Amino acid sequence: MSQPQATEFDAVVLGAGSGGYATALRAAQLGMSVALIERDKIGGTCLHAGCIPTKALLHVAEAAESVRHSASLGLRATVDGVDAAGVRKFTDGVVTRLYRGLQGLVAAAPGIVSVVGAGRLSDSHTVTVDGIHYIGRHLVLATGSAPRTLPGVRLGGRILSSTEALQLPEIPSRVVIIGGSVIGVEFASAWRSLGSEVTIVEALPSLVPQEDPALSRQLERAFRRRKIGVRTGARVAEVEQRDDDATVVLADGEKLDADYVLVAVGRAPVTGDLGLEAVGIKTEQGFVRTDERLRTTVPHAYAVGDLVRGLQLAHRGFAHGTFVAEQIAGLNPAPVTDALIPRVTYCEPELASVGLTESQARERYGDGVRTYEYNLGGNGRSQIRGTTGLVKLVQEPGGAVAGVHMIGSRIGEQVGEASLWVNLGLHPDQVAGIVHAHPTQNEALGEAALVLAGKPLHAHA
Ligand code: NAD
Repeated sequence: MSQPQATEFDAVVLGAGSGGYATALRAAQLGMSVALIERDKIGGTCLHAGCIPTKALLHVAEAAESVRHSASLGLRATVDGVDAAGVRKFTDGVVTRLYRGLQGLVAAAPGIVSVVGAGRLSDSHTVTVDGIHYIGRHLVLATGSAPRTLPGVRLGGRILSSTEALQLPEIPSRVVIIGGSVIGVEFASAWRSLGSEVTIVEALPSLVPQEDPALSRQLERAFRRRKIGVRTGARVAEVEQRDDDATVVLADGEKLDADYVLVAVGRAPVTGDLGLEAVGIKTEQGFVRTDERLRTTVPHAYAVGDLVRGLQLAHRGFAHGTFVAEQIAGLNPAPVTDALIPRVTYCEPELASVGLTESQARERYGDGVRTYEYNLGGNGRSQIRGTTGLVKLVQEPGGAVAGVHMIGSRIGEQVGEASLWVNLGLHPDQVAGIVHAHPTQNEALGEAALVLAGKPLHAHA
């Protein structure tokens, strides 16, 4: 038998999703040698089974809604049907183009060796893939997360996770979605626009329960107007599946029949079977235990992205990766703070937020917290798009904008500015001094800040 080969690197990165490839690219820029190990495809969940294909599907959904509402614009057009294979060709095409671009980026980065295969830690410096040892001065764990399911509910057949939902050869005619958070509402929105009958079952009292209740309420109202069934505060007792359909039985006895059931109750970190504990890397409920500098319980080993408890977002993975690479290179980057990361929920209407919700701010700062809700009814561009919604600002007592919460069609595109305010700790007076272009949806942010600064223009104080 031949001896296993060994190769040494400045960093060995296990997993090439958003967190892993970002680590590798930044480390390579900083002159390091990197082994980037991936068992599937570079780009991970975000590119192949998450952010990108779902947004492409939502783009198709938006086109269908535009046509459906064309009569109100004076246009005559109808949606005569949905060609599921054509939709898939479009979404796959977007993914493929981005994948090629990413492969090119990684291949062109001097210092990165891409390794295809499933890796496992043999010691705290070594990842072994098919008998070959990749030894790193530093080790970066970036194996991401996978869909969870409910106790007693096995995924397969008519019961889907988001991964299978994106591969369906048809648009389901009736679907029940368990879990009314980000993934649940994105699929509900897309499928409803493409003609499905959709019911969402959420255990907590509101949809998107992690967001400010002002957004949850508006989303729920908008979904009900779109004839999306919403059962909040509902407990799933059982999911029965047959060859051609399935039934979700709720604890109150209601039975919801569907062609497919989508389970969207969260994602679990992928840490089993990597050999972590054996080399001294501790986990807690599957998440890798890290300090604020993303160091694991083994000093030269780090974890990035969904393996680290907190927001499971691709852009957090990018930020973690960049941070860890710079740290390994001996720079002194600022740690990544979840509280300052923007969040977007891509449905119709879209949600976007950054910073503290009103109740979080009150908990932290007490009664002096001020809020203002600007109704998009007063925003010209939103009127043209036919969207309702709001921009809600949360202000620290006499101080900076601590949180921005928005709902409206495509409002996610505005989160960049909101994020700057919160990250830079800007006061409404400072923001009110920035001229916002007219007519844009972005103006709504400016108008809301003008109110908190005591000089409303197109709004009532
Ligand atoms: P989630 O953890 O955000 O929400 C799960 C939801 O399921 C919660 O609202 C929970 O109350 C509900 N739930 C749990 N058990 C239930 C039950 N038995 N019956 C009914 N409801 C139940 O999970 P997700 O929406 O699956 O998303 C997974 C992760 O992926 C999240 O961390 C999310 O942030 C991330 N993600 C982000 C985006 C985005 O940023 N746009 C998109 C997709 C996924």
